[in-house]
Amino acid sequence: MRKPAFRQVFSLLIAMAVILNLTTIVAADEGMWPLSEIPKLNLQEKGLRIDPSLIYDPAKRSLLYAVVQIGATGSFISEEGLIITNHHVAFGSVQAVSTPERDYLKNGFLAKSRAEEIPAPGRTARITESFQDVSAEVLSVAKKNMSYVDRTRAIEKKIKKIVAEAEKANPGKRAEVAEMFPGKTYWLFLYTVLRDIRLVYVPPLAIGNFGGEEDNWMWPRHTGDFALMRAYVGPDGSPAEYNEKNVPFKPKTYLKINPLGTEKGDFVFLLGYPGRTYRHLPASYIAYEQNIRMPAVADWYEWQIKLMEEMSQTSREVALKHDSRIKGLANTMKNYRGKLAGLKRLNYLEQKRQEERALQEFIQADPKRQAAYDQVLARLDKIYDDMGSEFPRIFILDNLRRSVTPLQIALTVVEASIERQKPDLERNAAYMDRNFNRLKQRIGLTLSSSFYLPTDMAIFKELMKRSLALDENQRIKELNRLVMPDKNLDDWLVEFFNSTKMADPEFVKSLWDKKPDEIKKIEDPMIKLALALYPEYKKIEETNRARKGQLDELQAKLVDVRQEFLGQQFIPDANGTLRLTYGRVEGYEPRDAVYYKPFTTVQGIVEKTTGQEPFNTPAALLQLINQRKFGRYVNPSLDQVSVCLLYSTDTTGGNSGSPIINARGELVGVNFDRAWEATINDFTWNHRFSRSIGVDIRYVLWILKEFAGANNILEEIGIK
Ligand code: GLU
Repeated sequence: MRKPAFRQVFSLLIAMAVILNLTTIVAADEGMWPLSEIPKLNLQEKGLRIDPSLIYDPAKRSLLYAVVQIGATGSFISEEGLIITNHHVAFGSVQAVSTPERDYLKNGFLAKSRAEEIPAPGRTARITESFQDVSAEVLSVAKKNMSYVDRTRAIEKKIKKIVAEAEKANPGKRAEVAEMFPGKTYWLFLYTVLRDIRLVYVPPLAIGNFGGEEDNWMWPRHTGDFALMRAYVGPDGSPAEYNEKNVPFKPKTYLKINPLGTEKGDFVFLLGYPGRTYRHLPASYIAYEQNIRMPAVADWYEWQIKLMEEMSQTSREVALKHDSRIKGLANTMKNYRGKLAGLKRLNYLEQKRQEERALQEFIQADPKRQAAYDQVLARLDKIYDDMGSEFPRIFILDNLRRSVTPLQIALTVVEASIERQKPDLERNAAYMDRNFNRLKQRIGLTLSSSFYLPTDMAIFKELMKRSLALDENQRIKELNRLVMPDKNLDDWLVEFFNSTKMADPEFVKSLWDKKPDEIKKIEDPMIKLALALYPEYKKIEETNRARKGQLDELQAKLVDVRQEFLGQQFIPDANGTLRLTYGRVEGYEPRDAVYYKPFTTVQGIVEKTTGQEPFNTPAALLQLINQRKFGRYVNPSLDQVSVCLLYSTDTTGGNSGSPIINARGELVGVNFDRAWEATINDFTWNHRFSRSIGVDIRYVLWILKEFAGANNILEEIGIK
């Protein structure tokens, strides 16, 4: 039956009201927003219930001061410097202080008092204090007729100068210039860096890493991926290295915890330090990643993981050396596989190509645009093509340096001897006075916590074999020359690795201040190899500098013309600086007819538990679940304690540990991952698939209370 006209109008009005109302609750958008954008986001319209200036306002004690960069992200949750982050962020430190006798990694750790907290070697926590646009100053040194290498060099030098001046003007602060839009905008950030960080609570592996690599990057998830650390400062309140006399740091602000957690549909936002995204790069870059780099790296990591797992069978002591390495490799490998699947699912490369064909037409339709941008895409294509052809050789050189510790150290020693002779501002960044101690410390830590000679030897052998198989014109002659025709490769390797002292921490320490001539006289085969290979690395560095000069120019133009073409203002790709992202708690449909609910529960832990790693739930936890000892932490709509949740924010690696904050500015969870379909976020964000994964604060509190008996901590964070 036809409805009377007024009823039609009425239903239309209702429909409109529903739509309008929905748009006020639907708060999910692409965007890892830099701080300067926050006031423009109209967050209150999207669901925020506090004044946005409480999140970001340099003049106020705003929430941004509660957020730290601590490897990935963490946040202060007490006025005594207590930090919550992820188990997987703390993992390396836990491994470094674990032994087979005191296996904190496997069994977890709770400091019952401040005195029991364990220093996390090399760990720092940075707080963003301020930022300022220095683009004009940086770009003032790039002159028209400069070569690309010179342009890059001039910019590098200018940045170092700006940093040095800023650190001089702000004693005790760390300055860094971040490239926001490469070739276009540069911001100077000032950080407070806290250097005495200690472990306070770490759940056992079977909770903090429940589901391991099998569940990583997946939903449904049941991982208690959280850990607690504390930042200390000198008695005068300023940042200091570990010292018994240090006192807990008092942050300007900290996050209040809401023990009631959050519910489906709620507005949430995250503050954090997302690492890298590549959304403004061209199709040719995607093709390079999709067809060349990511598949090769994923396969290579798989090979290394297998090797390390075999080595780990030897003993728990040997396994401990590999745990963190394996975790890192496996994490990236699965992420790349996820991205490759996602690129295919969305047919993203073709989408990008189509957009670029239309863009090229747009460029050609106007003589002015043509003059400015005509060759931009073609030149970018050429660069990524070149990178593709050079890849096999660069890959080997890169991985020799990255994965064979004694060679990495030898190359660093050689480079240090050369760089340290130069005036400070002309050195490669790692060798500047402000960074050199960290570099030495990092190498010492690698040797003591994750180096195992047979593993590195096997990796070296494999890379050597691959090098021998390269096309004639790509061969790494200095490496191939090493293989003596009269010797069996394995015998030669044993002799080679046994006669180097590059894994002896004391010997390495004695080399840091040597001059190039002295280094040349050292009778160590690894140093000799490093000396022979060093010019190769230098050549690559120069090629990269020239390439960066070109890419900066071309990418800046591409951003300009795409903004014009799409009629949009872009925000910069993630670059490790503090960002905000918002969304709401919601599930998603990964594929036809499948809906993923936004919360998992402890019942799911029981269902997944097999008794075998990584599904080996501690008996005490199973008992708590079976007895339903949930107390106040039950999620009323599920009648269970919820473990993890999904929400539609825009996150990437580095957002690990980001606080999930509700509309009132309270902590309701800790971000730790993305769903499988969202691994593609690094290239493109999509509301249908892009879901971040966090651990529910109710699970965190429940574990602390019922499982760990950490009443000292609960009291400190104001939970009775
Ligand atoms: N689980 C991720 C990682 O370890 C962190 C968060 C993300 O990438 O979404 O890299």
